[in-house]
Formats: sequence, structure tokens, C-alpha cells
Amino acid sequence: MEIGSADPELGRGTDDPTVPRSHRRLGRDLAGGRPDAVVIGGGVVGLAAAFHLAHEGMKVCLLDSARVGAAQSTRNWGFIRQQGRAAAELPIMIEANRMWPQLAAQLGCELDWVQGGNLRLTDSPERAEDYRRWVDTARTFGLDSRIVQPDEVGRLVPGFAGRYLMAILTPSDGQANPVKVVDGYARALRAMGVTIRENSRARAIVTAGQRAVGVLTDDGFIGASNVVLAAGVGSAALLRSVGLEMPVQLVTQTVALTSPVPRLTSACVWTGEIGFRQAPSGEVVLSSGGRGDVRVDLASLGFLLSPRGARQALPMYWKNRAYLRIRPRAVLGALRSRRPGEPLEEAPLYSDVARSLQAMTRYFPDLRLDVATAWAGTIDGTPDALPVIDAIDQAAGLVVATGLSGHGFGIAPAVGRIVAELVTRGSSGHDLTPFRLGRFREGKASAPQHLL
Ligand SMILES: Cc1cc2nc3c(=O)[nH]c(=O)nc-3n(C[C@H](O)[C@H](O)[C@H](O)COP(=O)(O)OP(=O)(O)OC[C@H]3O[C@@H](n4cnc5c(N)ncnc54)[C@H](O)[C@@H]3O)c2cc1C
Repeated sequence: MEIGSADPELGRGTDDPTVPRSHRRLGRDLAGGRPDAVVIGGGVVGLAAAFHLAHEGMKVCLLDSARVGAAQSTRNWGFIRQQGRAAAELPIMIEANRMWPQLAAQLGCELDWVQGGNLRLTDSPERAEDYRRWVDTARTFGLDSRIVQPDEVGRLVPGFAGRYLMAILTPSDGQANPVKVVDGYARALRAMGVTIRENSRARAIVTAGQRAVGVLTDDGFIGASNVVLAAGVGSAALLRSVGLEMPVQLVTQTVALTSPVPRLTSACVWTGEIGFRQAPSGEVVLSSGGRGDVRVDLASLGFLLSPRGARQALPMYWKNRAYLRIRPRAVLGALRSRRPGEPLEEAPLYSDVARSLQAMTRYFPDLRLDVATAWAGTIDGTPDALPVIDAIDQAAGLVVATGLSGHGFGIAPAVGRIVAELVTRGSSGHDLTPFRLGRFREGKASAPQHLL
């Protein structure tokens, strides 16, 4: 289908007088008939949103500039945790936690969901105190989080020889296989008749009279009166196309996968040094903890150097100073910034893999781990480490779900449901005030409250 010829099938978006003249004749039938909603981004958030929209009977077209799950959603550790989350996020995460046990049946496939708990061990007196306070907060939400003694740690992770001062457990937390989850959603969507367009980059969200009227892609225009923006690291650039700014800081982390070993644990374990979980098939997903490289580009540098940016973002850097690396070369490189839309280079750091392996050898002196593969993934973090989940006033019909700040895999099923409710009913049953996009502009974003 070529760009430049009007298609009556698309109706609004080609001939509609409210559509800017420049876009009227741009597209043909890219979406298999005019969709009710276009979802930009085929990560777990966009997929979950499309799933719930399709359930509501909407005709949905989902776009991804690469392949579904190409970015964070298949590169994460697979921890599904309420533990350590900011209080503002807990109600949504608790909802997600209740959805996970049913998800495999809903998608009709195996997701390797295991409800083995989330165990946090810390040898830092400061973190221990933070966690003590967090457990008190968690109790007010009815969570089963508690401080556990060494005998229980020994039962959860037999043979663990690492040193720690305090251990916290949330037994109702779990884990799943991110690749199977993305694949499961994508298959279910196709079976429900959702059009999935891969290698189709959204260039701009098109509005007319303060309403979203469609999406301009590299291949042409797709008209729709509802647009869901869930493009992860690509979201800020698309928001700019409707005149909105969103501060994001990108951080790249390395993850390794080992060959199968005899059962170590069913819990997701985070020691501060590293994080690990063991898949039901025995492989260990091994992460370098929260350690990562801050990616600096002109947009993030500009935000950081602004008075508001310094006020909002510096507390995040300070709080996570033990984990975040900022390389001078990266700052200099920002002056030769990436062109918008250019793919990120994401190479794993083998020094981080080696460090994680050394830690595992200290924790389990008799264990021999072979690394099967390693990869890197880039997190889209907001200054307060809370997502943006918002129906945008300045562009009616545009719902944004992005900036999941390194913990969006676990919460995604509930975010997908909320997005669908915002699109179809305009409300979601949750107080979404903490997740408004406008909080950054208005200076209302607080310092990060989550715990690593
Ligand atoms: C190393 C690592 C470990 C993590 N561990 C965990 C964990 O254990 N537990 C947890 O809960 N979370 C974890 N996370 C975070 C979690 O993976 C993310 O928050 C979540 O996957 C975000 O999903 P998303 O759909 O918003 O974004 P993404 O998965 O990044 O998807 C966005 C999609 O949008 C597409 N896109 C971008 N720009 C455009 C455009 N212009 N047009 C069309 N498509 C576009 C991209 O190709 C991509 O597929 C981790 C993340 C990383 C990187």
C-alpha cells in the first residue's frame, strides 16, 4: 500500500476535516480497516493494554518499531514483586499479583509462573531500617511481607552462605518467564483478531482540536480516535509530537542466564550485590543487582541541568548512588547525541557477569555455574521512579502508560486493564493522581519512595 492516496476505508484520518490537511491523504489501510484504538509499543504494557481493549470488543491495531517484546519486556529478570514498591504503586501491584495466577489460563499457554516469594537480604544498616519501615507500610495494605530469621532463609535458599544483617520476605510474590509472557500475549492478541504491525515505527501522534485522531508511522497514517502510548524508551519523543515533555533517564543493565543446575530456590532473591531466580527448568537468571550504566543524551542532560530537573532527578541518583554508573565518556558522547529513533546499543558488560558469578560462588561455595548467554536491557526511569499512567487532557483519546522505571513487568497485567478502562470508560477504579504526566511540569513529583 502506498503513501499518498486517500482510502475511504480509513474514513476519519484521511477525509475527516478535523485531521490536519498535511495528514489527510497520507495513509492507506495500514491497520486492516479503521481501528477503534492504536497501541504504540509491543512491550508487555502495550500487549496487556491491547488484550484488555480487545476483550472490551474494540478493534485494535498494535504497532512496534521492531518486534513485540524486542526491548525491556523480554530482557528483564522476571521478578514479579510487590516487595519494596512505593506505597503509591502498591494498590495496582497488588491487583497485578492477583491476576498473575490466572494469566496462563487466559492466554492459553505456559508462563512458568511460580509463587515462590521475594526475598531481600541486606547487610546495610541503613537499608535494613528502610525495609523495617517498609514492612510496616506493607502491613497497612494487607500484604504478607515480614522480616524472616536465618532458619527460614535456610529453608528458602538451602546452603546459602552469604552474609546479611536482615532478611525480608513477601511470600505472595512470584516470577514468570518474560519471553513466554510476551509470546503468550502476542498469540492471544492475534487469535482475538488484533492487528500486530511489527517493524512499523510511529513517528508522531496526530491531534486535531485537542483530540487524538491517529498515528503517523513510517509507512503512513493510521486514523483512530483512541491512541495508547506504551513505547517504553520511545515514548518521550512521541509525547513531544503533541507538545508534551516527559523526563526519562535511561539505565542499561546486564543479565546472564546459566545452564541448568540442581534446585537452589523457588524465591526471587536480591542481596543488594546481585539478584537471581531459578526457572522451573533449572537455569538461573542472574542479574548485576540494580547496577547499571546511566545513558546520557541531550534530552536527559538538558533536563538534569535545568533547575527543575536537578531538583527532581538528583534525589533519584543520590538514592541509587550505590548502583548507578555515569561514565564521563557517556556525558561527552551526549554532545554528539543519538538521533531520535536510532536504536540503542545494548551490549552486555561481561565484567558485570563475572562479578555476579563471583558473588554466587561466595553464596554457594559448592555450586558450579556455566553462563549460557548474557544480554543487556535499557530501563526507562522517571525522576520519582513511578510510571506515567494518564489520560491526557491536552489530547482527548490519548492514554499514556510508560516510564515503568525498572519494575513494569510484574505490574503490567493490571496496567493493561487500567489503560483499557481509561480508554473505554474514562476511569479505572484506582487513584491515578501519583501517575499523572503533569506532575513533573508542576513540580509535584516527589523523591523516589521505592526500595532496591
Ligand atoms: C535488565 C532489566 C531488568 C528488569 N527486571 C524487572 C523485573 O525483574 N521485574 C519487573 O517487574 N520489571 C523489570 N524490568 C522492567 C520491565 O522490563 C519494564 O518496566 C517493562 O518491560 C516495560 O514494558 P513496556 O511495554 O513499557 O516497555 P518495553 O518493553 O520497552 O516496550 C516498548 C516497545 O515500544 C517499541 N517502540 C519504541 N518506540 C516506538 C515507536 N516510535 N513506534 C513503535 N514502537 C515503538 C519498542 O520496540 C518496544 O518493543 C527490568 C528491565 C530491565 C531492562
